Amino acid sequence: MTRIDPKFGMRLKRYGAFDYDACYNCGTCTSVCSLARKGEEFPREMVRYSVTGNQEEILSSLKPWLCYYCGECSTNCPRSANPGELMMSLRRWLTAQYDWTGISGLLFTSLKATIAALIAVAAGVILFAVFMNFDTEAILKYGHYFEMAAISGVFAVILLPNLIRMWYFTIIKPGFKVPIKSYIVALKELFIHMFTQKRALGCDDNQKRWFEHFILVIGYLTLLFTTVFLDWFGTSSLPVIIGGYIVSAIVFIVTTDFVAGRIKKSREISRHSRPSDWLFVIWLLLMGLTAFIVRVAIDTDILKDSFWIYMIHLTVLAQWALIIVPFGKWTHFLYRSFAIYFSKLTSK
Ligand code: SF4
Ligand code: SF4
Repeated sequence: MTRIDPKFGMRLKRYGAFDYDACYNCGTCTSVCSLARKGEEFPREMVRYSVTGNQEEILSSLKPWLCYYCGECSTNCPRSANPGELMMSLRRWLTAQYDWTGISGLLFTSLKATIAALIAVAAGVILFAVFMNFDTEAILKYGHYFEMAAISGVFAVILLPNLIRMWYFTIIKPGFKVPIKSYIVALKELFIHMFTQKRALGCDDNQKRWFEHFILVIGYLTLLFTTVFLDWFGTSSLPVIIGGYIVSAIVFIVTTDFVAGRIKKSREISRHSRPSDWLFVIWLLLMGLTAFIVRVAIDTDILKDSFWIYMIHLTVLAQWALIIVPFGKWTHFLYRSFAIYFSKLTSK
């Protein structure tokens, strides 16, 4: 039996949803959505579930992840119920439900908690520098180890269990029986979508945004690979150094454009930025910028006398790796790719 929670709407509004209860169920949003297909209709159905407080249906649904927030539905809604923003809020809410630690929910709904977490991580980095006697070389060396430990630790302790919870809520609990072979065959789909996000091309007038996202994903993953596995700050290999400069510049340039778009609010998708949206783009921008500056300081031999340059980068990196990646908007990249994978499995 479906459980209706009359307080669900109130909770959802803390994740950014607003005005969706003005919906009178006309279906225009679903008919204009270029990504909705037969058997995969949205967002009207999600608006209905939200209005009626049917959170079980929402929790078991992959549809909020199949939306790429082009904003068409919000533009055409005759009641200005903002279905596009509701889908975004549902993604935040789902992220909080998948997260076993409960931290995602806290950070998505409380700016104070987010600021406190950022300050706590910054304080940890300063303590670490004190412990290292402010020795630049030692901090650089252990900072590099931290990157590796943070990536594997966050994946094993937070992201993997959360993905298993998502799988349980969307496949096991609703009763889908998926043969092992299908999981293996559909893996191709998972990786293609993870690296290309090609489904976003299905949104009308979305080519520039898709291209920017594509460049950003490739730039970000390459920067991660260059700094973590090729030790960009410690290497003397010219191709790696030049490659690192190029990818950090790409990350900086593309994210600057994203930040500018959110400031100008020129498109429907950037009209309702929440603190988690700002945090994501600003920290990504700072990652590209500070990584670039650190490498310049190494190449011009000024890092020893200006070790605070690396401290700033390490602080940004630690906040990114310990807050935004496991609990913030970064997770959407992962959940969306898995949602497309799971949706392929359940469609059979
Ligand atoms: S277009 Fe607006 S009013 Fe019509 S179903 Fe969608 S959200 Fe509701
Ligand atoms: S924002 Fe775009 S992709 Fe998402 S539901 Fe609305 S029309 Fe569809």
